[in-house]
Amino acid sequence: MILRPFDPWKGEMCTCPAKLSLNPYTGCPHGCLYCYASSYIPRFAECRPKVDLLRRLARESSRIRPGTLVSMSNSSDPYPSQEEWLLLSRGCLQILKERRLCVQVVTKSHLVARDADLLSGMNACVAMTITSLSESISSRLEPGAPSPARRLDAMAKLSAKGVALSARIDPIIPGINDGEIEQLAAAVSRAGARHITSSTIKAKPGIVKRITASFPHEGAALGRLFARGSKFAGSLYLPEETRYDLMLRIKECARRESVTFSTCREGWANIPGISCDGSHLLSAVGNLEKIPYFNSPT
Ligand code: SF4
Repeated sequence: MILRPFDPWKGEMCTCPAKLSLNPYTGCPHGCLYCYASSYIPRFAECRPKVDLLRRLARESSRIRPGTLVSMSNSSDPYPSQEEWLLLSRGCLQILKERRLCVQVVTKSHLVARDADLLSGMNACVAMTITSLSESISSRLEPGAPSPARRLDAMAKLSAKGVALSARIDPIIPGINDGEIEQLAAAVSRAGARHITSSTIKAKPGIVKRITASFPHEGAALGRLFARGSKFAGSLYLPEETRYDLMLRIKECARRESVTFSTCREGWANIPGISCDGSHLLSAVGNLEKIPYFNSPT
């Protein structure tokens, strides 16, 4: 199946609305040190297009009721560099548009701006992930991903075309990018984001080791911090007070920027009407049962 119910790790911490997940590619070339998907997808760094993707999507989507929310993508980026010539994600958008499905694009790539013409004519929102404004930090943390400047530029282009936009400032990693929370929130808001989703780093096996290889001092401190935290759904969580303080800081930034805010998989109280994934920016989402969502520190 190309379209599958979104069910990350079957985790009780996930408060996303019900939606379908679509990954045009298997694997991802961005190489983010904190990537969770790389822990369960073999040969993850090799980005492979899904075989016969568009034909399968056309067939499966014909059975989905219009208005259903489809999230693209959750365990790979839908805009790896190959997308520039393969046009697979663009093809998916065309099919989803014809079927009148709602679409949420989650990416770290400026390439998404190429599809502004399609996205602006459908019920779609884009979530751009940006974790640092520093080229130096970003190139070590997400070595294969487009630079922060290119992502912000793509956001501004999408926003200018009227595409609903949110930013994922996610994950916050103490010692690495927590010092620029305020600047990040201001930058994404200037670029047109109307919502910010944030979360603290969760460590699947191997993640702290990977981070330590590129950030020796910060990675070691992170390991000590995780040792004081807890484990949920196979992931290490930072101590609750650390998570809470970080999320409160970014929530306050969002308030100052007049954008909505939610956390992702932190397990706190809900703000009615605000979705944890930014899908409340869509004009209407139908048909799959919506679950009450959105975490936020209160
Ligand atoms: S962009 Fe997402 S899927 Fe790709 S490596 Fe980074 S975290 Fe993993």
